[in-house]
Amino acid sequence: MDFHHQQYWQQRAQALKIENRLFINGRYLPATEGGTFAVDDPAGQRELTQVARATGVDVDLAVRAAREAFERGDWSQASPAQRKSTLATLATLMEQHAETLALLETLDTGKPIRHSLRDDIPGAIRCIRWYAEAIDKVYGEIAPTGNDSLALIAREPVGVVGAIVPWNFPLQLACWKLGPALATGNSVVLKPSEKSPLSAIYLAQLATQAGLPDGVLNVVPGYGHDAGKALALHHDVDALTFTGSTQVAKQLLIYAGESNMKRVWLEAGGKSANIIFADCPDIDKAAQNAAAGIFYNQGQVCIAGTRLLVEESIQQPFLQALRRHAAAFTPGDPLDPTSAMGTLIDSDHRQKVANAIERGLQQGATLFLDGRTHPLGDHDGYLGPTILTAVDNRMDLAREEIFGPVLAVTTFNGEQQAIQLANDSDYGLGAALWTRDLSRAHRLSRQLKAGSVFVNNYNDGDMTVPFGGYKQSGNGRDKSLHALEKFTELKTTWISLD
Ligand code: NAD
Repeated sequence: MDFHHQQYWQQRAQALKIENRLFINGRYLPATEGGTFAVDDPAGQRELTQVARATGVDVDLAVRAAREAFERGDWSQASPAQRKSTLATLATLMEQHAETLALLETLDTGKPIRHSLRDDIPGAIRCIRWYAEAIDKVYGEIAPTGNDSLALIAREPVGVVGAIVPWNFPLQLACWKLGPALATGNSVVLKPSEKSPLSAIYLAQLATQAGLPDGVLNVVPGYGHDAGKALALHHDVDALTFTGSTQVAKQLLIYAGESNMKRVWLEAGGKSANIIFADCPDIDKAAQNAAAGIFYNQGQVCIAGTRLLVEESIQQPFLQALRRHAAAFTPGDPLDPTSAMGTLIDSDHRQKVANAIERGLQQGATLFLDGRTHPLGDHDGYLGPTILTAVDNRMDLAREEIFGPVLAVTTFNGEQQAIQLANDSDYGLGAALWTRDLSRAHRLSRQLKAGSVFVNNYNDGDMTVPFGGYKQSGNGRDKSLHALEKFTELKTTWISLD
C-alpha cells in the first residue's frame, strides 16, 4: 500500500510521534511557565497533542538566543555561498521528510492530503531552495558620484526578525518569511498560529540538522495575544514580518510604535474580484478557474477570488458551468487522497462562515448553491461550495473577508462598471479579468488597485514574482528578490578620494 490510499495515511497518522515543544537556541524545550494548549485534528475531531505554550518569558529567551547568534556571526557573517549550501541542505531534508510534513499539515488544518503533498510542502521546499540559489547572485551598487569619491551601497541583514504566520498554509507561509530572512543572514523567531504549529516545530530540527547554527531559527508556538504580542512589542526585534488578518496587522503597527519602531511588513486580508467579460475566451475554463479560485483550500486563501463580477449577458451560462466545476470540490476525509476538499480549520470558523451566508441571505442575496446541505456539511468543520447571486457591492458578502468556500456573484455591464466595482473595496490583494481583448487586458491591469492582476487565469505565478497587497491588504512583498528588501537595511559607505 502506498500514498495513493487512505489507509496508508490513516496508519501513518496513528503511528506519528508529534514533537510538541518550543525550539530555542537549537534545542526543544517545554515552556518556562509549564503551560500547554491543545492542538486538534479538525476532521477527526480529536486532540492530536498538547503543545508547549510560549509566553513572554520564552519569547524573551528566543529573542536573546537570536540576538546572540546574530552577534556571534557564524550565520550573519557567513559568506552567501555558505548560507546557500546550508539552506539547500535544508530543502533536501524537507524533501526527504515531505510525507511527514504533509501529514502534519493535513492533520493540523483539515486540508486534503493530496494538496499538502502536491502544493504546500513542495511550495515550501521550492521557496527555501529558491532563496538558497539566489543569495550568492545578488550584488550591491556603486553610486554615480564624481571622481573625488566612491559611494558603495550594500544590503546588510536587519538583525533579529520576528515572523508571525497564520494557519491556512502554515509551512509554506512560514517559508516565505524564512527563505529571504535566513538567506540574507538574519536570525529569526517564528511564531506559528496556535491552530497549526506542528509543521513549523518539526521544521526546526531539520534546519539544525542542515547545519543552521544554534539560535538562528527559534520557534515559539503560542497564542497571538500572548506570545505574538510579546514578540511584536519586543525592544530587541528589528523587523516583524506578518501574514494574517488586517485587524491584527493594524495592531502590529501600533505595537511597533509603542516599542522600538521595528520595521513591520504585513501580508493581510483580501476580497479579490474575478471579472468575467462577455468576450471571455473560454467560459468553461474561466468557470473552472473561478471555482478553484474560491473553493481550493476550503476557501481559506487570502487571495481567493471571493467576488465574481460577471458581465450580465453571460451570467446564466457561466453560472451553469460554475455549478458543474464546484462539484469537483465535494468535501471528504482529508486523509483520503481522492478528496479535493477537506474541513475548515475548526467548527467555530465553520459557524462564522455559515453566519456570513445567513447574513447575506438576510441582506437580499440569492442562494444558487448551498454547501451547508452537503451530507458532511452540517457538522464539524465541513462546509461545501456555496454560491450566492444578486450580491450588491454594499452587502457584507461583498465587503468582508469570509475566509470560507463562499462565492459572491455580482453582475455588471461594461468596463467602467467592472473597474468601479472591483476597486470599491478596502482590500487590494488580487484581481483577475477574462477577455480576448488585449488592449482591454492592459488597460484594466493598469487601473485595478491590486498587488497581482491575473489575465485569463486565476492566481497563477511562482516564486519569481512578488506577492502582496495594495490598501488594507498590506505592505511590502513576499516572494521574488523583492522580498530581500524587507530583511535588509541599505548601507551607504561614502569614501572621499584624494
Ligand atoms: P490572524 O490575524 O488571526 O492570526 C495570524 C497570526 O497572528 C497568528 O499566528 C496569531 O496567533 C497571531 N496574532 C493574533 N493576534 C495577535 C496579536 N495581538 N499580536 C501578535 N500576534 C497576534 O489570522 P488567521 O486567522 O490566522 O489567518 C487568516 C487571515 O490571514 C486572513 O485574514 C487571511 O486573508 C490572511 N492571510 C493573508 C495572506 C497574504 O499573503 N496577504 C496569506 C494568508 C492569509
